[in-house]
Amino acid sequence: MKLAPNLPCACHSGIKYKRCCRPIHRGRPAEGPDTLVRARFSGFAYGLAGFVMGTTDPSGPVFEADAEAWERSILSFSDGTLFTGLAILAVTHGAAEGEVTFRASLRQGGKDASFTEQSRFVRSGDAWLYHSGVLS
Ligand SMILES: [Zn+2]
Repeated sequence: MKLAPNLPCACHSGIKYKRCCRPIHRGRPAEGPDTLVRARFSGFAYGLAGFVMGTTDPSGPVFEADAEAWERSILSFSDGTLFTGLAILAVTHGAAEGEVTFRASLRQGGKDASFTEQSRFVRSGDAWLYHSGVLS
């Protein structure tokens, strides 16, 4: 998916990309874990592997030490997927940890690949990081 500042953001907020996830993709910390879910969703949609990797908790189970292989896998997922919708279903967070339940609507190879996930986030300095997720 092409990055276009004036088109609606790939996180499906209905807001132009430049006013939605772009500042976060460029380094502004997400205000909450739900904002990070949106920015990671659009990050996957736009193939921003560095952003996805950089917002993953290095101590979590999905962090991959082999950055090149991880990047290839993110780009392959991004290229092979249509990111057709995102719904944030529930958000709870304190100062240091948070949980977000979301529904990601995806299509891969002409088939529905949507899922609902309960994700866990941890705070590191100003930034929220994705720690792990459980499909539900
Ligand atoms: Zn967005």
